[in-house]
Amino acid sequence: MTVGPVRRDEATAAFFDGTARGELLLFRCPAGHFSPPYSQQCDTCASVDLTAVAASGGASVVSRSVAHRRGGHRDILVVAELDEGPWWWSKVIDVEPEQVVAGARLTVVVERADEESEAVPVFRLA
Ligand SMILES: [Zn+2]
Repeated sequence: MTVGPVRRDEATAAFFDGTARGELLLFRCPAGHFSPPYSQQCDTCASVDLTAVAASGGASVVSRSVAHRRGGHRDILVVAELDEGPWWWSKVIDVEPEQVVAGARLTVVVERADEESEAVPVFRLA
């Protein structure tokens, strides 16, 4: 798996406007629950009154895998729990696999595959 080239559509435009600013947008309902960016309603209470808010950028590793690619390259992929609660999967950049253990602290950063591509959220060790 590689991240990008990624292009926007109507459903993802607000999300990618966020990543262009360096933000991972989540949704928050009036009760204060956070849901992932693709949510149509709150994961916890099913409210459809959702407001887009920028995640703090902090996360912890839940699980990790290593994807080996041609040419000896490899991607370190994680499922991480964002500090707001929702889980997010992406790759961890600038890291060796053995550094990425369950519970390790991560920071969300954005990365572009190329100038034509949307910025996508990835992780770096905090
Ligand atoms: Zn809720």
